[in-house]
Amino acid sequence: MKTITLNPGERLAAGQLPRQGVLPAAIMQSAQAIVDDVRERGDVALREYCKKFDGVDVDDFRVDPKLMDEAIQAVDPAFIEALKKAAAQIREFHEREVEQSWFTSRADGTILGVKVTPVSAAGVYVPGGRAQYPSTVLMDCIPAKVAGVKRVVMVTPPQKEGGISPYTLAAAKVAGVDEIYAVGGAQAIAALAYGTDSIPKTAKIVGPGNAFVAAAKKIVSGDAGIDMVAGPSEVCVLADATADATVVAADLMAQAEHDPLATCYLVTCDAAFAEKVQGRFAELLAASPRAEITSASLADQGVVVVAADLEAAIDAVNVIAPEHLELHCDNAMGLLGKIENAGAIFVGPWSSEPLGDYVAGPNHTLPTGGTAAFSNPLSVQDFITRSSVICYTPEGLMNDAPATQTMAQAEGLWAHALSAGLRRKMVEEGLEGF
Ligand code: NAD
Repeated sequence: MKTITLNPGERLAAGQLPRQGVLPAAIMQSAQAIVDDVRERGDVALREYCKKFDGVDVDDFRVDPKLMDEAIQAVDPAFIEALKKAAAQIREFHEREVEQSWFTSRADGTILGVKVTPVSAAGVYVPGGRAQYPSTVLMDCIPAKVAGVKRVVMVTPPQKEGGISPYTLAAAKVAGVDEIYAVGGAQAIAALAYGTDSIPKTAKIVGPGNAFVAAAKKIVSGDAGIDMVAGPSEVCVLADATADATVVAADLMAQAEHDPLATCYLVTCDAAFAEKVQGRFAELLAASPRAEITSASLADQGVVVVAADLEAAIDAVNVIAPEHLELHCDNAMGLLGKIENAGAIFVGPWSSEPLGDYVAGPNHTLPTGGTAAFSNPLSVQDFITRSSVICYTPEGLMNDAPATQTMAQAEGLWAHALSAGLRRKMVEEGLEGF
């Protein structure tokens, strides 16, 4: 890991972080070409891309829902139990996010409010290129169901031998997915955004994926709603010498093993502790079946920040604005109020980040690349729309029409002033109601 030592009074600068920034132009161009092609040629293009990128001939993208039931029977019962436990805790957490419609009335009888409506259909991308992610199925589909979305549509790349992994299918059953299509990559995002003969469009598209998937989401955004453009995974551990060096090393590796571009930060005021943590990697890597990816990520993307004092360390955490933050230090809960930017905060030594990946309940689809400074974890709110509701009485109209007319005239909008003025005249002439 690269070490950045901050002198007393010095702040970590965002430019010192190993961030990739915007998606590479070549990826954006490839994704744009795929999206345009699917928009124009629909299923024919989808089949060609499935053959080209996944090496599979797919006749019918729709996966028979019966396969979900068969998968439940086929996989290890202990896995189903784990899925059900995770699903129950994710559901319980997200039920607390449900937003109700609300209305208020003024003394003049005017009613104002917000009507909350679930989106008509939600498309959930579940990655499946190099690994299977049943946890993502739960995390991204359950909030949609809790929001009341009637049509939750899952897309995921077909496996080399065709079909979908039984682990993913079993998770889809537990999460209550309505439709599944075996298609992945930028082409799947285009199909969800614009629809094809076999895949009806969805209003919202969520879920993580590789750079082509992220680029396609960015491209279709505006034609369909998206949750976020997710980049490589990140963890930041803020630790002092009360932390266990082996546990901290394992926590950093738990993120590094995702991807060579995954980024691990260790922020501490104790340079000797940082050395101790790094000293644990060799032994742990020797036991890891993912040593190659893990060591590449730690070497190329890993950063140790040694701060002069706790205040500077916390400031560094806020500059990093990590996807996942672990507070591995004395009085961890007492520091919570000082953390401004982080997707998910794991407080204290027992709060292993992988618990949050799978079962704790909060969503694991989180803002990456510093976007935690202005965006949020995936939630039930991603699957609703809010409509403002405005209902005037004649008395309310008389109260607000004069100011409306004045403002409309100032903006030169004649018909705006007329619209309010005509009603005002009707009330003044005793013509209440239509
Ligand atoms: P993926 O499903 O995202 O991508 C596979 C698809 O990419 C293929 O179906 C193919 O269509 C397309 N593709 C491959 N090569 C291409 C090319 N040259 N040109 C155009 N399209 C191409 O699966 P993946 O590749 O395994 O990536 C999954 C990503 O999702 C990883 O980076 C992983 O870390 C991330 N992930 C994130 C979370 C989270 O919550 N943040 C959860 C799970 C996975």
